[in-house]
Amino acid sequence: MKKCSQCGKVAMYKIEGGHLLCLDCFHKHNSIVQQQIAQLTAEENFLIGQMEAIAGLPLTFPRHEIPQPSPVINRNINISNSTIGAVNTGYIKNLKVNLKHMVHTGNQELAEQLQVFTKQMLKEDFTIEIKNEILEQLEFLSQQLSGQELPKRGIIKSILNSVLIAISTSESLINIWNTIQDMISNLMK
Ligand SMILES: [Zn+2]
Repeated sequence: MKKCSQCGKVAMYKIEGGHLLCLDCFHKHNSIVQQQIAQLTAEENFLIGQMEAIAGLPLTFPRHEIPQPSPVINRNINISNSTIGAVNTGYIKNLKVNLKHMVHTGNQELAEQLQVFTKQMLKEDFTIEIKNEILEQLEFLSQQLSGQELPKRGIIKSILNSVLIAISTSESLINIWNTIQDMISNLMK
């Protein structure tokens, strides 16, 4: 199993330079890149303003729209082999909202299966860390399938695989997950 070069969680992405990153660290990486782009764009706008000032034509040239950087999310600090930390209720809340959207867009059966899976997964004897990682991926997956944006197939595929790896010690979970995987691949056809 490939590990994230930053935190050691299951890696899902490979970035420039060959670094492997998990979903969390990839998100952080992207936030930083976005911030850099925003900064460069602001500098360019400044240069445009300077040109206008020199030419005596204030506010003549078009400005770039500056992208709003998404915030770097700070999560609970995970301490291995410890009871510190709890299941992230934010993920569960978002997941429920996404499942409702799925029901409204005609994917009731899949939403139900995801709900059954989540409930069962939380009862399993996994560490809080693993449970949160799975919840995070379920939240992301359900958002992708909620019909609010075009689903990203590659990411969905890697989430399906990495959840399967995370639950590989539980046969009952694997069974539910297989059903979910089938439903999703039918949906993506
Ligand atoms: Zn990581």
